[in-house]
Amino acid sequence: MAARTTAHKALKEIQAAGYRYAGTKLPAHVYAQLSLAVICTVCATPRTISLNRLRNGTVCLHRSHVSPAGAAQIARKAGFRPREPYDQRSRSWTLDCLTCGRTHRIMWPTLLSGTAKCPCQERAAELRAAGYEPQAPYPGTARQPWPSTCTTCKAARTPSLTTIRSGARCGHNGTPHATAAAERRGVRAELRAAQGARPQ
Ligand SMILES: [Zn+2]
Ligand SMILES: [Zn+2]
Ligand SMILES: [Zn+2]
Repeated sequence: MAARTTAHKALKEIQAAGYRYAGTKLPAHVYAQLSLAVICTVCATPRTISLNRLRNGTVCLHRSHVSPAGAAQIARKAGFRPREPYDQRSRSWTLDCLTCGRTHRIMWPTLLSGTAKCPCQERAAELRAAGYEPQAPYPGTARQPWPSTCTTCKAARTPSLTTIRSGARCGHNGTPHATAAAERRGVRAELRAAQGARPQ
């Protein structure tokens, strides 16, 4: 990006990175390496940072205002339970997913930005996109049947992500056998593909 930018654009970049400019009036042209006085809009920590560093993705970890209790609350909101005490010096945190019980190491900035997700949440989204509502936590592997209900006919079904990915869907209204057969076909196709890919 440009080594020098206008004051107006610099202020916009600072804002987009989650800071408020707190220095004196900016010069008409701001050099990217110029140190700028900013304040984090989340935790109000004052910092000195250049546009170069902002562009490199340097983010505030909001450590100064997060108490261990507050950190645990943030984790719970994202669907996790802390497995270890919150350490302000660490960039990541070991947490258990409240849905599937698996353990993950989540980056602290990711957690704060509200984008932290256990893979099981993404798998559930995949199941829902195929027209099923999960009735149990993610079984652990794509091949395993996942107890669900069809959102169209409300029937109890046990699709696996493998069968869904191969295109199998609920047959609706009293045709569970057709669905089951399609699901088995899906699994066989997947197995064949896996075997074909394996070196002899
Ligand atoms: Zn901050
Ligand atoms: Zn999970
Ligand atoms: Zn159905």
